[in-house]
Amino acid sequence: FMLLTKKLIEVRNVLNSIDHNDTLKLPSIVVIGSQSSGKSSVLEAIVGHEFLPKGSNMVTRRPIELTLIHTPHSKEEYGEFPSLGLGKVHDFKRIQQTLKDLNMAVPESECVSAKPIELRIYSPNIPDLTLIDLPGYIQITSKNQPLSLKEKITELCEKYIQEPNIILAVCAADVDLANSEALRSSRKVDPLGLRTIGVITKMDLVEPDRGVAILKNQDYPLHLGYIGVVCKAPTGASKDNMTQAVIKTEDAYFRSAYQFSQRGVAVGTGTLRRKLMDILEENMGSNLGSIIKAVQKELDETRYQFKVEYNDQKMSAESYVAESVDKLKHRFKDFSKAFGKPQVRLEIRHMLEQRMLDICAQRYWSDPRISELSQLDSNSTAEEDRLYWDLQLDLASSALTKSGVGRQTTQRVVDILSRTMEQLAEAEPFNHHPDAANTIKTMTHEILSSRSQATADQVENTIKPYKYEVECTDGEWAEGVKRAVTLLQTELEMCEDALSKIKTMVGTKKLRKAINYVIATDREEARRAQRREAVAKLRESNPQKYFEEHSRSKEAAGSSSGGVDSGDGEHEHEHEHGQEDENGHEHSAEDEDELEAAIRPHFNPKLLNKAREALSLRDRALILKYRLSALKSKTCKSSKNKTQCPEAFLAVVAEKLAYTSVMFIQVELMNEFVFQLPRMIDSRLGVKTGQEAMEKFARENPAVGKHLQLMDKRIKLEEVWEKLNYLVRRQEEAKARKW
Ligand code: GDP
Repeated sequence: FMLLTKKLIEVRNVLNSIDHNDTLKLPSIVVIGSQSSGKSSVLEAIVGHEFLPKGSNMVTRRPIELTLIHTPHSKEEYGEFPSLGLGKVHDFKRIQQTLKDLNMAVPESECVSAKPIELRIYSPNIPDLTLIDLPGYIQITSKNQPLSLKEKITELCEKYIQEPNIILAVCAADVDLANSEALRSSRKVDPLGLRTIGVITKMDLVEPDRGVAILKNQDYPLHLGYIGVVCKAPTGASKDNMTQAVIKTEDAYFRSAYQFSQRGVAVGTGTLRRKLMDILEENMGSNLGSIIKAVQKELDETRYQFKVEYNDQKMSAESYVAESVDKLKHRFKDFSKAFGKPQVRLEIRHMLEQRMLDICAQRYWSDPRISELSQLDSNSTAEEDRLYWDLQLDLASSALTKSGVGRQTTQRVVDILSRTMEQLAEAEPFNHHPDAANTIKTMTHEILSSRSQATADQVENTIKPYKYEVECTDGEWAEGVKRAVTLLQTELEMCEDALSKIKTMVGTKKLRKAINYVIATDREEARRAQRREAVAKLRESNPQKYFEEHSRSKEAAGSSSGGVDSGDGEHEHEHEHGQEDENGHEHSAEDEDELEAAIRPHFNPKLLNKAREALSLRDRALILKYRLSALKSKTCKSSKNKTQCPEAFLAVVAEKLAYTSVMFIQVELMNEFVFQLPRMIDSRLGVKTGQEAMEKFARENPAVGKHLQLMDKRIKLEEVWEKLNYLVRRQEEAKARKW
């Protein structure tokens, strides 16, 4: 009735695949032994194939969880690594190589890893068993192994030999059992040997009498007893039927000596196999009741938790992925609806209007002749002045049309799209998925960069005519005037806001004082500059006179104390001596700097900066007010007077540029983006990415990961529960039949 073991092994595998399951365990056979005790040879003899990695240098670095599955109706023999997804591996050499690679992947510095390698072997020639092969105990630590290695291995083995596992302690016959690390360890956790089987290998290396003595071991009795084996392949045996040869050799050996046929002496790999099956079956059977109870309890708790926390709501990686992608596409759709042609035009016009304001500030508002502009009159103004202002308007207009409108407007839209996608990528749920968020940004970048050059060129091309001439209708002009007024008003408000902020920050009185000081020093500075200019002129035009005056004033400076004059004194000086003082002043410039330095500490430099800022804001506000009234005047009612109303004309130009740009940006960039992006999202983030990618994605979100985990646990426990119930029914039926 080996069905029990088979089914329970299935149950065990399901239980083992539940995340964080430390409570539900079914027994397995754990193989421990010192290095070179013949552990691998025994395991291979049981499986009937050579498949374990061999080598002198610590080849088993990770536990190997070996599940043997008896397949009576199939001739096929193969292995499977469930976590690698390699599929069926029929070549046992390849299994050996894979195990070796997996072991060698553990870094030298770690030496051993507790992470088990899962391997399943299917064959009609093996019993249903679960075996765990552990790294062999080492006696001496070799030079290039860290000291702690020995302890690490001991620790790892200790973890596995706990209940309810069965311990297979492998000892070589030619080594004193008193020195067996395997027996020593097992005794610690199972002092009576109730779940320990001793396997004595290399029986051929000792005399039969001695061998039998070991098997009958009285010093270290084990409830499950000792079994002697010879697992050495005869030299020259072909690898294919290795086990056949091994068993033949073993058989021959045990037949050769009468001692082995005594009662109570167990020998041979075949015996070992049967014994293992019996023990596992018995153990599993006796565990059935308690495991059913435990599973029932766990399942109840899981169901309850699932109800309370998730209201029994089903969840799968796929549904989560689909939902996330839908959310993204939905939000993008909302955005693209809200960011249509009119909004894009607004954005671009705003950008161009800012550019226009800069141009006005540069070309008009800081021009000292600006006050002439509104006085321009076709009758009374000189032709020259008229030409000057006409030229100004031409220059200003081309500054706007030739400022790289194609590139700038395209870039503006690219920036808005990129920023929006970045925001979407950082919003729930993608904040949990950095890789996906990056993918969103990459896709955005890919589409935009593939389109932006062509778009910019297109736009630049279509606005080309405006670089030479801009005509406008009366309606367009009126609109332009309106917008210019609004723009200037906004500017004015900003100016006044900034000014009042400075006032509140500094204090009105203090600011006024500082401003007065700045005005005074600026005036002084201007006067001095004027003087210097006059002197320089004199030196150029009349060097003789310059020289005379220069030397005379030098004498004067030498004989008088005028050098340290006060400001007032100097003033008098200026009045009395007329021209002379210019030279005199040159001399006293240093002293004057000293004087200034003496006054300045009353105002700290930051305050003076604020004062200057306030002054320039005041000037700007004045100009803006002046320009506003010009724009609102009768002159600006007609586009014929565009020279006098540059702000209005530039507003018209900005609107035309915006209108034209948007048409092409819409076609070349926006439509493409709106078309391509959702498709890319589907192919790179959606369910098409495959189960593995979806699982990974879903688990990145802790809340979803938890939900999935609990859901998975529930499903698995229900499956286990089904299987266990089936077993119980079968057992009861069998009992009933017996009666
Ligand atoms: P492990 O390190 O414990 O896995 O030991 P191995 O199975 O690799 O065996 C170590 C060495 O002992 C190998 O050279 C085997 O050929 C040899 N060996 C294993 N079993 C027997 C046996 O029953 N008799 C003899 N004479 N040699 C054996």
